[in-house]
Amino acid sequence: MLFPAVQAANAKEALRFGDRTLTYADLARVAGALAHRLRRLDHERPRVAIWATPSLETSVATVAALLAGVPAVPINPKAGERELAHIVSDSAPALVLTPPGADLPSGMHGVTREDVSFEGCTSEVPAELDDETPALIVYTSGTTGPPKGVVLPRRAIASTLDALEDAWQWTADDVLVHALPLFHVHGLILGILGPLRRGGSVHHIGRFSTQRIATELAGEATMMFGVPTMYHRIASEIATDHALANALRGARLLVSGSAALPLRDHQLITEATGQQVVERYGMTETLMSTSVRADGPRKAGTVGPPLRDVELRLIDEDGNTVRLGDTQTVGEIQVRGPNLFTGYLNRPDATAEAFDGDWFRTGDMATRDADGYVRIVGRKATDLIKSGGYKIGAGEIENALLEHPGVAEVAVTGEPDPDLGERIVAWVVPSGDGAVRETELVDHVARLLTPHKRPRAVHFLDALPRNHMGKVMKRALDA
Ligand code: ATP
Ligand code: MG
Repeated sequence: MLFPAVQAANAKEALRFGDRTLTYADLARVAGALAHRLRRLDHERPRVAIWATPSLETSVATVAALLAGVPAVPINPKAGERELAHIVSDSAPALVLTPPGADLPSGMHGVTREDVSFEGCTSEVPAELDDETPALIVYTSGTTGPPKGVVLPRRAIASTLDALEDAWQWTADDVLVHALPLFHVHGLILGILGPLRRGGSVHHIGRFSTQRIATELAGEATMMFGVPTMYHRIASEIATDHALANALRGARLLVSGSAALPLRDHQLITEATGQQVVERYGMTETLMSTSVRADGPRKAGTVGPPLRDVELRLIDEDGNTVRLGDTQTVGEIQVRGPNLFTGYLNRPDATAEAFDGDWFRTGDMATRDADGYVRIVGRKATDLIKSGGYKIGAGEIENALLEHPGVAEVAVTGEPDPDLGERIVAWVVPSGDGAVRETELVDHVARLLTPHKRPRAVHFLDALPRNHMGKVMKRALDA
Protein backbone atom coordinates (compact mmCIF):
# COMPACT_ATOMS: atom_id res chain seq x y z
CA MET A 1 0.00 0.00 0.00
CA LEU A 2 1.46 3.34 -1.01
CA PHE A 3 -0.60 5.44 1.40
CA PRO A 4 -1.52 3.58 4.58
CA ALA A 5 -2.77 6.80 6.26
CA VAL A 6 -5.42 7.45 3.58
CA GLN A 7 -8.30 6.01 5.61
CA ALA A 8 -11.92 7.03 6.09
CA ALA A 9 -11.37 7.12 9.87
CA ASN A 10 -8.27 9.36 9.82
CA ALA A 11 -9.39 12.93 10.62
CA LYS A 12 -5.87 14.40 10.49
CA GLU A 13 -5.18 17.24 8.07
CA ALA A 14 -3.29 15.92 5.04
CA LEU A 15 -3.10 18.79 2.56
CA ARG A 16 -3.44 22.54 2.80
CA PHE A 17 -3.25 24.86 -0.20
CA GLY A 18 -3.78 28.44 0.97
CA ASP A 19 -6.97 28.26 3.01
CA ARG A 20 -8.31 25.06 1.43
CA THR A 21 -7.61 21.83 3.26
CA LEU A 22 -8.31 18.10 3.00
CA THR A 23 -8.07 15.57 5.82
CA TYR A 24 -6.95 12.00 5.23
CA ALA A 25 -10.61 10.98 5.49
CA ASP A 26 -11.52 13.53 2.78
CA LEU A 27 -8.69 12.21 0.65
CA ALA A 28 -9.86 8.60 1.07
CA ARG A 29 -13.30 9.68 -0.09
CA VAL A 30 -12.47 11.94 -3.04
CA ALA A 31 -9.37 10.19 -4.35
CA GLY A 32 -11.06 6.81 -3.79
CA ALA A 33 -14.06 7.85 -5.86
CA LEU A 34 -11.94 9.30 -8.64
CA ALA A 35 -9.82 6.13 -8.64
CA HIS A 36 -13.00 4.14 -9.09
CA ARG A 37 -13.92 6.20 -12.16
CA LEU A 38 -10.39 5.96 -13.57
CA ARG A 39 -10.41 2.18 -13.27
CA ARG A 40 -13.40 2.07 -15.57
CA LEU A 41 -11.60 3.99 -18.29
CA ASP A 42 -12.29 2.09 -21.44
CA HIS A 43 -9.27 2.78 -23.59
CA GLU A 44 -6.64 0.63 -25.18
CA ARG A 45 -3.89 2.63 -23.56
CA PRO A 46 -5.44 4.14 -20.46
CA ARG A 47 -3.10 6.88 -19.34
CA VAL A 48 -4.28 10.11 -17.77
CA ALA A 49 -2.75 13.54 -17.93
CA ILE A 50 -2.96 15.78 -14.89
CA TRP A 51 -3.13 19.52 -15.45
CA ALA A 52 -0.70 20.06 -12.62
CA THR A 53 -1.56 23.44 -11.14
CA PRO A 54 -0.31 23.81 -7.56
CA SER A 55 -3.61 22.67 -6.06
CA LEU A 56 -5.56 20.18 -4.00
CA GLU A 57 -7.00 18.88 -7.27
CA THR A 58 -3.58 17.95 -8.66
CA SER A 59 -2.70 16.15 -5.44
CA VAL A 60 -6.03 14.29 -5.37
CA ALA A 61 -5.77 13.35 -9.05
CA THR A 62 -2.26 11.96 -8.52
CA VAL A 63 -3.26 9.91 -5.49
CA ALA A 64 -6.35 8.67 -7.36
CA ALA A 65 -4.28 7.54 -10.35
CA LEU A 66 -1.89 5.72 -8.02
CA LEU A 67 -4.80 4.04 -6.21
CA ALA A 68 -6.34 3.06 -9.54
CA GLY A 69 -3.12 1.80 -11.10
CA VAL A 70 -3.64 4.08 -14.12
CA PRO A 71 -0.38 5.73 -15.20
CA ALA A 72 -0.51 9.50 -14.80
CA VAL A 73 1.40 12.21 -16.61
CA PRO A 74 1.66 15.50 -14.71
CA ILE A 75 1.78 18.41 -17.14
CA ASN A 76 3.19 21.87 -16.51
CA PRO A 77 0.19 24.17 -17.00
CA LYS A 78 2.58 26.89 -18.13
CA ALA A 79 4.29 24.70 -20.73
CA GLY A 80 4.77 26.50 -24.03
CA GLU A 81 3.01 25.36 -27.21
CA ARG A 82 5.86 23.25 -28.51
CA GLU A 83 6.60 21.54 -25.20
CA LEU A 84 2.90 20.83 -24.64
CA ALA A 85 2.46 19.39 -28.14
CA HIS A 86 5.51 17.17 -27.57
CA ILE A 87 4.25 15.86 -24.22
CA VAL A 88 0.67 15.27 -25.43
CA SER A 89 1.69 13.42 -28.57
CA ASP A 90 4.42 11.48 -26.74
CA SER A 91 2.27 10.37 -23.81
CA ALA A 92 -1.09 10.09 -25.64
CA PRO A 93 -3.35 10.52 -22.59
CA ALA A 94 -6.94 9.22 -22.79
CA LEU A 95 -8.11 11.94 -20.45
CA VAL A 96 -6.89 15.09 -18.76
CA LEU A 97 -7.83 15.74 -15.14
CA THR A 98 -8.14 19.42 -14.33
CA PRO A 99 -9.30 21.63 -11.49
CA PRO A 100 -12.82 22.93 -12.25
CA GLY A 101 -12.74 26.05 -14.38
CA ALA A 102 -9.11 25.66 -15.48
CA ASP A 103 -8.43 27.24 -18.85
CA LEU A 104 -6.83 24.72 -21.20
CA PRO A 105 -4.76 25.96 -24.14
CA SER A 106 -5.53 24.78 -27.68
CA GLY A 107 -2.78 22.14 -27.45
CA MET A 108 -5.02 20.22 -25.01
CA HIS A 109 -8.27 20.54 -26.96
CA GLY A 110 -8.10 17.07 -28.50
CA VAL A 111 -7.94 15.41 -25.07
CA THR A 112 -11.14 14.52 -23.19
CA ARG A 113 -11.42 16.56 -20.05
CA GLU A 114 -12.68 15.60 -16.62
CA ASP A 115 -12.90 18.06 -13.73
CA VAL A 116 -11.64 16.82 -10.39
CA SER A 117 -14.67 17.37 -8.22
CA PHE A 118 -14.95 16.83 -4.48
CA GLU A 119 -18.75 16.50 -4.55
CA GLY A 120 -20.82 13.40 -4.00
CA CYS A 121 -18.00 10.92 -3.49
CA THR A 122 -17.88 7.79 -1.42
CA SER A 123 -14.70 6.03 -0.38
CA GLU A 124 -13.59 2.81 -1.87
CA VAL A 125 -10.93 0.30 -0.89
CA PRO A 126 -8.23 0.15 -3.60
CA ALA A 127 -7.22 -3.13 -5.16
CA GLU A 128 -3.72 -4.52 -4.62
CA LEU A 129 -1.51 -3.48 -7.50
CA ASP A 130 1.64 -4.75 -9.10
CA ASP A 131 4.71 -2.78 -8.03
CA GLU A 132 6.35 -2.85 -11.44
CA THR A 133 3.52 -1.37 -13.50
CA PRO A 134 4.05 2.25 -14.58
CA ALA A 135 2.63 4.60 -11.98
CA LEU A 136 3.77 8.04 -13.06
CA ILE A 137 5.33 9.33 -16.25
CA VAL A 138 7.27 12.43 -15.31
CA TYR A 139 8.99 14.62 -17.86
CA THR A 140 12.55 15.77 -17.09
CA SER A 141 13.19 19.48 -16.51
CA GLY A 142 14.46 20.10 -20.03
CA THR A 143 17.68 21.69 -18.78
CA THR A 144 19.86 20.09 -21.42
CA GLY A 145 17.37 19.37 -24.24
CA PRO A 146 13.70 18.55 -24.87
CA PRO A 147 12.09 16.92 -21.79
CA LYS A 148 12.09 13.10 -21.77
CA GLY A 149 9.18 11.06 -20.40
CA VAL A 150 10.45 8.96 -17.51
CA VAL A 151 8.40 5.90 -16.64
CA LEU A 152 8.33 5.37 -12.88
CA PRO A 153 6.89 2.21 -11.32
CA ARG A 154 5.26 2.18 -7.87
CA ARG A 155 8.30 0.30 -6.56
CA ALA A 156 10.63 3.25 -7.33
CA ILE A 157 8.33 5.76 -5.65
CA ALA A 158 7.83 3.67 -2.51
CA SER A 159 11.51 2.82 -2.27
CA THR A 160 12.79 6.38 -2.60
CA LEU A 161 10.28 7.76 -0.11
CA ASP A 162 11.17 5.08 2.42
CA ALA A 163 14.89 5.67 1.97
CA LEU A 164 14.25 9.37 2.67
CA GLU A 165 12.26 8.45 5.76
CA ASP A 166 15.38 6.69 6.98
CA ALA A 167 17.83 9.49 6.01
CA TRP A 168 15.72 12.39 7.27
CA GLN A 169 13.98 10.66 10.18
CA TRP A 170 10.82 11.75 8.50
CA THR A 171 7.66 11.00 10.50
CA ALA A 172 3.93 11.57 10.60
CA ASP A 173 4.59 14.53 12.92
CA ASP A 174 6.36 16.46 10.17
CA VAL A 175 4.56 19.33 8.48
CA LEU A 176 6.18 20.31 5.20
CA VAL A 177 6.14 23.87 3.88
CA HIS A 178 6.00 23.61 0.12
CA ALA A 179 6.29 26.19 -2.66
CA LEU A 180 7.40 24.03 -5.61
CA PRO A 181 5.55 23.17 -8.82
CA LEU A 182 3.73 19.81 -8.92
CA PHE A 183 4.86 18.43 -12.27
CA HIS A 184 8.34 17.25 -11.29
CA VAL A 185 9.77 14.75 -8.86
CA HIS A 186 10.81 17.33 -6.29
CA GLY A 187 7.43 19.02 -5.83
CA LEU A 188 5.13 16.09 -6.56
CA ILE A 189 6.81 12.88 -5.40
CA LEU A 190 8.89 14.27 -2.53
CA GLY A 191 6.67 17.22 -1.66
CA ILE A 192 3.16 15.71 -1.88
CA LEU A 193 3.45 11.92 -2.01
CA GLY A 194 6.24 11.92 0.61
CA PRO A 195 4.22 13.49 3.44
CA LEU A 196 1.13 11.45 2.43
CA ARG A 197 3.10 8.20 2.58
CA ARG A 198 4.38 9.16 6.04
CA GLY A 199 0.93 10.24 7.25
CA GLY A 200 2.10 13.82 7.83
CA SER A 201 0.87 17.14 6.45
CA VAL A 202 1.73 19.55 3.66
CA HIS A 203 1.19 23.30 3.60
CA HIS A 204 1.56 24.55 0.05
CA ILE A 205 2.00 28.32 0.08
CA GLY A 206 1.60 28.96 -3.64
CA ARG A 207 4.19 31.40 -4.86
CA PHE A 208 7.45 31.31 -2.90
CA SER A 209 8.01 34.23 -0.58
CA THR A 210 10.46 34.41 2.30
CA GLN A 211 7.72 35.95 4.42
CA ARG A 212 5.33 33.02 3.90
CA ILE A 213 8.13 30.55 4.54
CA ALA A 214 8.93 32.38 7.78
CA THR A 215 5.28 32.37 8.87
CA GLU A 216 4.93 28.63 8.24
CA LEU A 217 8.21 27.66 9.91
CA ALA A 218 7.38 29.86 12.89
CA GLY A 219 4.03 28.02 13.03
CA GLU A 220 3.40 24.32 12.53
CA ALA A 221 5.82 23.56 9.70
CA THR A 222 8.84 21.46 10.68
CA MET A 223 10.57 21.06 7.35
CA MET A 224 11.10 22.86 4.06
CA PHE A 225 12.04 21.49 0.62
CA GLY A 226 13.44 24.11 -1.72
CA VAL A 227 15.52 24.72 -4.81
CA PRO A 228 18.75 26.73 -4.63
CA THR A 229 17.12 29.91 -5.99
CA MET A 230 14.83 29.89 -2.91
CA TYR A 231 17.71 29.44 -0.50
CA HIS A 232 19.54 32.20 -2.37
CA ARG A 233 16.66 34.57 -1.65
CA ILE A 234 16.62 33.47 1.98
CA ALA A 235 20.40 33.88 2.26
CA SER A 236 20.30 37.41 0.90
CA GLU A 237 17.58 38.53 3.34
CA ILE A 238 18.40 36.56 6.46
CA ALA A 239 21.04 38.84 7.96
CA THR A 240 18.55 41.70 8.23
CA ASP A 241 15.26 39.81 8.62
CA HIS A 242 15.16 38.56 12.21
CA ALA A 243 11.75 36.94 11.90
CA LEU A 244 13.06 34.87 8.98
CA ALA A 245 16.24 33.92 10.87
CA ASN A 246 14.26 32.91 13.96
CA ALA A 247 11.81 30.84 11.93
CA LEU A 248 14.57 28.94 10.15
CA ARG A 249 16.43 28.41 13.42
CA GLY A 250 13.42 26.50 14.74
CA ALA A 251 13.02 24.24 11.71
CA ARG A 252 13.74 20.52 12.08
CA LEU A 253 15.08 20.10 8.55
CA LEU A 254 15.82 22.36 5.58
CA VAL A 255 16.42 20.42 2.37
CA SER A 256 17.79 21.68 -0.95
CA GLY A 257 17.90 19.91 -4.27
CA SER A 258 17.36 19.99 -8.06
CA ALA A 259 20.60 21.91 -8.61
CA ALA A 260 23.75 22.71 -6.67
CA LEU A 261 23.37 24.97 -3.64
CA PRO A 262 26.09 27.64 -3.82
CA LEU A 263 28.43 27.37 -0.83
CA ARG A 264 28.07 31.04 -0.03
CA ASP A 265 24.29 30.70 0.43
CA HIS A 266 24.79 27.64 2.61
CA GLN A 267 27.26 29.58 4.78
CA LEU A 268 25.13 32.73 5.07
CA ILE A 269 22.19 30.66 6.30
CA THR A 270 24.35 28.79 8.80
CA GLU A 271 25.84 32.02 10.12
CA ALA A 272 22.42 33.56 10.70
CA THR A 273 20.61 30.51 12.09
CA GLY A 274 23.03 27.77 13.10
CA GLN A 275 21.11 25.52 10.69
CA GLN A 276 22.90 23.59 7.97
CA VAL A 277 20.82 23.07 4.87
CA VAL A 278 20.77 19.39 3.89
CA GLU A 279 21.50 18.69 0.22
CA ARG A 280 20.16 15.67 -1.60
CA TYR A 281 20.87 14.56 -5.14
CA GLY A 282 18.48 12.94 -7.54
CA MET A 283 17.07 12.87 -11.03
CA THR A 284 13.72 12.14 -12.59
CA GLU A 285 15.20 8.83 -13.77
CA THR A 286 16.65 7.74 -10.43
CA LEU A 287 14.45 9.59 -7.95
CA MET A 288 16.74 10.19 -4.97
CA SER A 289 20.21 8.67 -4.94
CA THR A 290 22.08 10.41 -2.12
CA SER A 291 21.37 12.70 0.79
CA VAL A 292 23.10 14.22 3.74
CA ARG A 293 21.50 12.48 6.73
CA ALA A 294 19.60 14.25 9.49
CA ASP A 295 21.55 12.19 12.05
CA GLY A 296 25.00 12.26 10.41
CA PRO A 297 27.77 14.76 9.62
CA ARG A 298 26.49 17.55 7.35
CA LYS A 299 29.63 18.36 5.26
CA ALA A 300 28.64 21.51 3.35
CA GLY A 301 29.17 21.30 -0.41
CA THR A 302 28.38 17.57 -0.53
CA VAL A 303 25.11 15.80 -1.33
CA GLY A 304 25.85 13.12 1.25
CA PRO A 305 26.27 9.35 0.96
CA PRO A 306 24.04 7.00 -1.08
CA LEU A 307 20.59 6.41 0.37
CA ARG A 308 19.60 3.05 1.83
CA ASP A 309 19.33 0.36 -0.88
CA VAL A 310 21.03 2.58 -3.49
CA GLU A 311 24.37 1.47 -4.88
CA LEU A 312 26.58 4.19 -6.34
CA ARG A 313 29.87 4.06 -8.21
CA LEU A 314 32.06 6.62 -9.98
CA ILE A 315 33.49 5.66 -13.35
CA ASP A 316 36.54 7.58 -14.57
CA GLU A 317 37.41 8.48 -18.16
CA ASP A 318 39.13 5.16 -18.75
CA GLY A 319 36.09 3.22 -17.61
CA ASN A 320 37.59 2.28 -14.24
CA THR A 321 35.78 2.51 -10.92
CA VAL A 322 37.20 5.32 -8.80
CA ARG A 323 38.47 3.99 -5.46
CA LEU A 324 36.44 5.06 -2.42
CA GLY A 325 38.28 7.90 -0.71
CA ASP A 326 40.14 9.04 -3.82
CA THR A 327 38.97 12.65 -3.68
CA GLN A 328 41.21 13.71 -6.56
CA THR A 329 39.63 11.66 -9.31
CA VAL A 330 36.38 12.79 -10.88
CA GLY A 331 34.07 10.12 -12.27
CA GLU A 332 30.59 9.79 -13.69
CA ILE A 333 27.97 8.89 -11.10
CA GLN A 334 26.29 5.58 -11.88
CA VAL A 335 23.55 4.18 -9.69
CA ARG A 336 21.74 0.91 -9.24
CA GLY A 337 18.84 0.04 -7.00
CA PRO A 338 15.07 -0.09 -6.48
CA ASN A 339 14.84 3.70 -6.96
CA LEU A 340 15.42 3.50 -10.75
CA PHE A 341 12.90 4.18 -13.52
CA THR A 342 12.03 1.46 -16.02
CA GLY A 343 12.80 3.45 -19.17
CA TYR A 344 12.14 6.54 -21.26
CA LEU A 345 8.70 6.60 -22.85
CA ASN A 346 8.84 5.70 -26.57
CA ARG A 347 12.64 5.91 -26.57
CA PRO A 348 14.13 2.42 -26.31
CA ASP A 349 17.41 3.63 -27.83
CA ALA A 350 17.84 6.40 -25.26
CA THR A 351 16.98 3.90 -22.52
CA ALA A 352 19.53 1.37 -23.75
CA GLU A 353 22.18 4.07 -24.04
CA ALA A 354 21.55 5.27 -20.49
CA PHE A 355 22.42 1.92 -18.93
CA ASP A 356 25.62 -0.04 -18.48
CA GLY A 357 24.09 -3.40 -17.56
CA ASP A 358 21.83 -2.57 -14.64
CA TRP A 359 23.81 0.56 -13.73
CA PHE A 360 22.23 3.84 -14.80
CA ARG A 361 24.63 6.44 -16.16
CA THR A 362 23.53 9.77 -14.68
CA GLY A 363 25.74 12.05 -16.81
CA ASP A 364 26.69 13.85 -13.59
CA MET A 365 30.32 14.01 -12.49
CA ALA A 366 31.54 13.83 -8.90
CA THR A 367 34.19 12.86 -6.40
CA ARG A 368 33.64 10.89 -3.21
CA ASP A 369 35.41 10.95 0.14
CA ALA A 370 36.34 7.99 2.35
CA ASP A 371 32.95 8.17 4.13
CA GLY A 372 31.15 7.89 0.79
CA TYR A 373 30.02 11.55 0.74
CA VAL A 374 29.51 12.65 -2.85
CA ARG A 375 30.67 16.06 -4.07
CA ILE A 376 29.06 16.94 -7.39
CA VAL A 377 31.29 18.60 -9.96
CA GLY A 378 28.49 19.10 -12.49
CA ARG A 379 27.08 17.64 -15.65
CA LYS A 380 29.48 15.87 -17.97
CA ALA A 381 28.01 17.68 -20.99
CA THR A 382 28.08 21.27 -19.74
CA ASP A 383 29.96 21.60 -16.46
CA LEU A 384 33.18 19.74 -17.00
CA ILE A 385 35.47 22.05 -18.92
CA LYS A 386 38.53 20.65 -20.65
CA SER A 387 40.95 23.51 -20.95
CA GLY A 388 44.68 23.43 -21.64
CA GLY A 389 44.95 19.76 -20.65
CA TYR A 390 43.08 20.29 -17.36
CA LYS A 391 39.61 19.09 -16.42
CA ILE A 392 37.92 21.87 -14.53
CA GLY A 393 34.51 21.80 -12.84
CA ALA A 394 32.33 24.84 -13.53
CA GLY A 395 30.89 24.72 -9.99
CA GLU A 396 34.21 25.37 -8.28
CA ILE A 397 34.71 28.54 -10.34
CA GLU A 398 31.09 29.59 -9.79
CA ASN A 399 31.50 29.24 -6.02
CA ALA A 400 34.74 31.25 -6.13
CA LEU A 401 33.14 34.05 -8.16
CA LEU A 402 30.18 34.19 -5.75
CA GLU A 403 32.63 35.00 -2.97
CA HIS A 404 33.33 38.31 -4.73
CA PRO A 405 31.05 41.06 -3.40
CA GLY A 406 30.44 42.37 -6.93
CA VAL A 407 28.79 39.12 -8.06
CA ALA A 408 25.11 38.34 -7.41
CA GLU A 409 24.69 35.32 -9.68
CA VAL A 410 26.99 33.45 -12.00
CA ALA A 411 27.21 30.60 -14.47
CA VAL A 412 30.45 29.28 -15.92
CA THR A 413 30.65 27.52 -19.29
CA GLY A 414 33.33 26.15 -21.58
CA GLU A 415 33.52 27.60 -25.08
CA PRO A 416 35.52 26.06 -27.96
CA ASP A 417 39.02 27.52 -28.22
CA PRO A 418 41.65 26.73 -30.87
CA ASP A 419 44.56 26.73 -28.39
CA LEU A 420 43.05 25.50 -25.15
CA GLY A 421 40.43 23.11 -26.51
CA GLU A 422 37.89 24.92 -24.37
CA ARG A 423 38.18 28.21 -22.61
CA ILE A 424 36.43 29.20 -19.40
CA VAL A 425 33.74 31.83 -19.78
CA ALA A 426 31.86 33.44 -16.88
CA TRP A 427 28.34 34.87 -17.17
CA VAL A 428 27.83 37.30 -14.33
CA VAL A 429 24.84 39.12 -12.90
CA PRO A 430 26.55 41.94 -10.98
CA SER A 431 25.34 42.95 -7.52
CA GLY A 432 24.86 46.39 -5.99
CA ASP A 433 25.92 49.23 -8.26
CA GLY A 434 27.14 46.81 -10.95
CA ALA A 435 30.55 48.47 -11.01
CA VAL A 436 32.68 45.32 -10.84
CA ARG A 437 35.21 45.00 -13.66
CA GLU A 438 36.16 41.95 -15.69
CA THR A 439 39.86 42.05 -14.74
CA GLU A 440 38.98 42.17 -11.06
CA LEU A 441 36.95 38.95 -11.35
CA VAL A 442 39.59 37.20 -13.42
CA ASP A 443 42.29 38.09 -10.86
CA HIS A 444 40.02 37.03 -8.01
CA VAL A 445 39.66 33.50 -9.43
CA ALA A 446 43.36 33.24 -10.28
CA ARG A 447 44.25 34.25 -6.71
CA LEU A 448 41.64 32.09 -4.94
CA LEU A 449 41.98 28.95 -7.06
CA THR A 450 44.80 28.62 -9.58
CA PRO A 451 45.63 30.75 -12.62
CA HIS A 452 44.53 28.12 -15.15
CA LYS A 453 41.02 28.20 -13.66
CA ARG A 454 40.56 31.90 -14.41
CA PRO A 455 37.84 32.91 -16.88
CA ARG A 456 39.16 34.04 -20.26
CA ALA A 457 36.05 36.15 -20.80
CA VAL A 458 33.38 37.62 -18.53
CA HIS A 459 29.97 38.56 -19.88
CA PHE A 460 27.66 40.73 -17.79
CA LEU A 461 23.91 40.00 -17.87
CA ASP A 462 20.79 41.32 -16.12
CA ALA A 463 19.60 37.79 -15.35
CA LEU A 464 20.61 34.20 -16.06
CA PRO A 465 18.34 32.07 -18.29
CA ARG A 466 16.59 29.74 -15.83
CA ASN A 467 13.81 27.18 -16.20
CA HIS A 468 10.81 26.83 -13.85
CA MET A 469 12.94 24.92 -11.32
CA GLY A 470 15.38 27.81 -11.20
CA LYS A 471 18.01 25.75 -13.03
CA VAL A 472 20.40 27.68 -15.26
CA MET A 473 19.95 26.57 -18.87
CA LYS A 474 23.56 26.73 -19.97
CA ARG A 475 22.70 25.80 -23.56
CA ALA A 476 21.03 29.24 -23.81
CA LEU A 477 24.31 30.96 -22.92
CA ASP A 478 26.26 31.46 -26.08
CA ALA A 479 29.31 33.63 -26.47
P1 ATP B 1 16.99 17.27 -18.70
O1 ATP B 1 17.33 15.86 -18.31
O2 ATP B 1 15.68 17.37 -19.40
O3 ATP B 1 18.08 18.02 -19.35
P2 ATP B 1 17.30 17.85 -15.86
O4 ATP B 1 18.42 16.85 -15.92
O5 ATP B 1 17.57 19.16 -15.21
O6 ATP B 1 16.72 18.11 -17.32
P3 ATP B 1 15.88 16.60 -13.72
O7 ATP B 1 15.74 15.13 -13.83
O8 ATP B 1 14.76 17.35 -13.11
O9 ATP B 1 16.05 17.18 -15.16
O10 ATP B 1 17.17 16.99 -12.92
C1 ATP B 1 18.20 16.10 -12.58
C2 ATP B 1 19.55 16.80 -12.59
O11 ATP B 1 19.58 17.89 -11.67
C3 ATP B 1 20.67 15.89 -12.15
O12 ATP B 1 21.14 15.07 -13.21
C4 ATP B 1 21.72 16.89 -11.68
O13 ATP B 1 22.49 17.39 -12.76
C5 ATP B 1 20.89 18.02 -11.12
N1 ATP B 1 20.81 17.98 -9.63
C6 ATP B 1 19.80 17.53 -8.86
N2 ATP B 1 20.09 17.67 -7.55
C7 ATP B 1 21.30 18.24 -7.49
C8 ATP B 1 22.17 18.67 -6.42
N3 ATP B 1 21.82 18.56 -5.14
N4 ATP B 1 23.35 19.25 -6.75
C9 ATP B 1 23.72 19.39 -8.04
N5 ATP B 1 22.96 19.01 -9.09
C10 ATP B 1 21.77 18.45 -8.81
MG1 MG C 1 18.60 15.05 -16.95
